[in-house]
Amino acid sequence: MEALFRRFPSLRERLPRVVLADLPTPVTALDLPSRLGGGIPLFVKRDDLSAAPYGGNKVRKLELLLAAARRDGAAEVMTFGVAGSNHALATALYAERAGLRSISILTPQRNAGYVRRNLLAHLSCNGELHHYADERAAATGAAWQRLRHRRATGLTPLRIPGGGSSALGTVGFVNAAFELREQIEAGVLPEPERLYVALGTMGTAAGLALGLQAAGLRTRLVPVRVVRESIGNVEGMAALFRRTSALLHRLDPGFPLLDMDPRHARIRHEQFGEKYAAFTEAGMQAVRLMDEVAGLALEGTYTGKAMAALLADLQAADRRPASALFWLTYNGRDMSPLIAGRDYRRLPAAFHAYFERPLQPLDIVA
Ligand SMILES: *Cc1c(COP(=O)(O)O)cnc(C)c1O
Repeated sequence: MEALFRRFPSLRERLPRVVLADLPTPVTALDLPSRLGGGIPLFVKRDDLSAAPYGGNKVRKLELLLAAARRDGAAEVMTFGVAGSNHALATALYAERAGLRSISILTPQRNAGYVRRNLLAHLSCNGELHHYADERAAATGAAWQRLRHRRATGLTPLRIPGGGSSALGTVGFVNAAFELREQIEAGVLPEPERLYVALGTMGTAAGLALGLQAAGLRTRLVPVRVVRESIGNVEGMAALFRRTSALLHRLDPGFPLLDMDPRHARIRHEQFGEKYAAFTEAGMQAVRLMDEVAGLALEGTYTGKAMAALLADLQAADRRPASALFWLTYNGRDMSPLIAGRDYRRLPAAFHAYFERPLQPLDIVA
């Protein structure tokens, strides 16, 4: 959060945070062969290395969300996602580090190797997991669990929305854009024409869009939708942008009250495929390619699809960028210390099916 605080010092006092992330995350050059459309400046923002033992984009949000929970005197946080949610895992791991217990309310999803790994990693911390058959059952289940925990502890678990994408969580990505500006000013990379990022619960994209505008960068955001449109859409992104701008303006009137520039609203839909977490040929090709040419670990639900949009644009005469930055939002830390020797049968029974049923056909690693 230092980059934002350097520009708006009074926010330091008003935005409590727990330091989890190792910032700034590095920026590395992406050298693509010319057959893939290389030959222009391409860079990767390495949020895969944002923290240990588990990196990825959720850490930036959790620094603020977990600090607010502690400030409000909560003992437990409750959050939401699908069975293999990166956000639920990050919340469980880092809540424990912040001295909080966590409860995850999870719903079904397409099976994949990373779902198994994330579930096993939950066994390395004290988080409580619940699996409900659909979103309606999850809502009822969450209400029941809230009551049960309040009866046991005398305190209501603090609610963290799915993906951590409240206005407060989104501030973590406003900071990320100021961090990027500092890296541009330091000569780490030239100001990129475009910034490609996966669009899920939208906190990452909305925060970056707000941060780019507030930091005075001309870079255009290219959000690549990987969730159904009722979850990721322009109206929702603009609303989260405004709420986050209003929150920061309230905390420091020097922070501008902004509306989202429509340049950032040109959401890409064509990589989504059949449904959330259903891998696509183009997405998995991007995953394989980044492993081969750059040694980067992407996955099929978010970053493969986002990278597929950039790779397609590099080949398209009318959409080819002059330069681009890819925001790598997936965890890049080796998870084996978290999962070695863990037995899935210690998970609640509803999760065993992810280990006993096949992975989706396009998944490349078990
Ligand atoms: C959650 C997530 C995203 C999307 O971020 P949002 O802020 O939810 O839009 C992208 N990539 C990965 C790997 C994620 O886990």
